[in-house]
Amino acid sequence: MKPSLRPLLAPALLGCLALACPAPGHSQARTSARTAPEISKAVLRAHLYTLADDSMQGRDAGRAGNVRATDYIARHLRRMGVEPAGENGTYFQTVPLVRRSLDPASTLRVDAAPLAYDTDFLPLRPIGLTVFGGRFQRDGVPVVYGGRLGADAITPEQARGRFVVFLPPAGPQSAQGTQMLPIGPLSEVLAPYGGAAGVAVVGLELATPPQLRYFHAPVITLADPAAPRPTMPGVLVTSAAAERMLGAPLAGLRPGAAGRTVSGAFGFHDAPTEAPARNVVGIIRGRDPALRGEYVAVGAHSDHVGISPVPLDHDSLRLYNGVLRPSGLNEAPRQPTPEEATRLRAALDSLHRAHGVRRDSIFNGADDDASGTSVALAVAEYFAKHPTRRSLLFVWHTAEEKGLFGASYYTDHPTVPRDSIVTQVNMDQVSRGGPADVAGSRPNTLYLLGSRRLSTELGDRVERANAAVAHPFALDYSLDAPNHPAMGYCRSDHYMYARYGIPIVFLSAGWHRDYHMVTDEPQYASLDTMQHVGDLVRDLLRDVGDMDHRPKVDGVRPDPGGTCRQ
Ligand SMILES: [Zn+2]
Repeated sequence: MKPSLRPLLAPALLGCLALACPAPGHSQARTSARTAPEISKAVLRAHLYTLADDSMQGRDAGRAGNVRATDYIARHLRRMGVEPAGENGTYFQTVPLVRRSLDPASTLRVDAAPLAYDTDFLPLRPIGLTVFGGRFQRDGVPVVYGGRLGADAITPEQARGRFVVFLPPAGPQSAQGTQMLPIGPLSEVLAPYGGAAGVAVVGLELATPPQLRYFHAPVITLADPAAPRPTMPGVLVTSAAAERMLGAPLAGLRPGAAGRTVSGAFGFHDAPTEAPARNVVGIIRGRDPALRGEYVAVGAHSDHVGISPVPLDHDSLRLYNGVLRPSGLNEAPRQPTPEEATRLRAALDSLHRAHGVRRDSIFNGADDDASGTSVALAVAEYFAKHPTRRSLLFVWHTAEEKGLFGASYYTDHPTVPRDSIVTQVNMDQVSRGGPADVAGSRPNTLYLLGSRRLSTELGDRVERANAAVAHPFALDYSLDAPNHPAMGYCRSDHYMYARYGIPIVFLSAGWHRDYHMVTDEPQYASLDTMQHVGDLVRDLLRDVGDMDHRPKVDGVRPDPGGTCRQ
């Protein structure tokens, strides 16, 4: 699942990670997946350990590791006799990722007076699938004061064709009581202003060093001119620069107040990524001529986040996160109590005495999402021999971690008619769980998200399938609650199908201490959980793939170009 931006707001607490110091990687025995057509643990284990091996280099989209992983998936589809459904008769659909970096020659002038790049203004980089990152090249654009985002901001209509200066949405205060710059909500609150000529967000002087590093860092992003979501030119400005653009002090200014004009050319340079990024797409053709033109889609993501810039101490990280950060990168770490610090130190020392310091710099992503990828492969192997009436469309999306780009591109450019996709089943992180692993969860918990949002009938069928499998899960809908702070419904590939009105069900076993850590390794995965998820998905696909009508859509269809609502 792609991470949220919340940790960027809590630099003060990152200190305790400093406890982790340098150390070495690992290797695992592998067994062949060739003999068992049924979903079996041996098959799941072979896929999982291969995809999560150090040699896959954390499967980062746009790099060699992800190419290696997608080659592996395609090789197995070919072996199973699954029909290629990518481009030009292959299993692959190339996703146009680019490496977007700031254009240091960016200019912005108020009337004729220049603002200083990187001092008065800084172009706003794309943040995930957000609206930023477009190029501005205009003269004499009228400026208007937009008010505070999320509070008294002007309407998108009032913003059309103008350069709008906004105050940021209300954000948290620092320990010193100063206003901090919220990044995460920016994209959501600015998305409706796609018709503006450009936007300026006040607060460059509030950005913390980690935030400034984030804004200056090149970003791998999707360059798809046909995407239903325009990219808008945006800049972060200081209050002083904003007042020059508005020709008046901010204090007391009414939203809608006209300012001066701006001109200039600012934005980003795009360069190709090191390696191509590819979705892997295969079809198991339906056995019923009347229904094989309809598809039940199955998804998982092939990518993860690559290699850590600094090697870490595997045991230290795992030990401390187990206590201070039980859902991994999904939360900011807390400070240990003195008693905890002593206990953790002692435990770490004894591990170091037992086997020395284990240096680790690869984000193996065993659970995220080598587990879903492996289950989807095993399920495909089963249906290759036992097809349903409808066709099954398997898509291993790339670049999920970077902003759901693979799924966004596939659903904008599907290789089958989009309206023939009757349901999408998404698996992301399906190998962990249980109270010892996922804080606050019950034994045998499986989280379901979105299963009733577009089709109540689909939600019922998932429950029925679960009730009938050999190992039913305790289905948990808590992460699917409207406005749930973790935003789980918006953080994985299924949403890209749901935005087009396709009923989806998202299955996940939840966050844990190794989430987006170098410690997310296969030896911590539960093959039983993966097999049981495989059984449930197999039976659900059998049901939806063979039913005489497509699941009835009775929910609200979102705007494909809009922002996801949890
Ligand atoms: Zn994931």
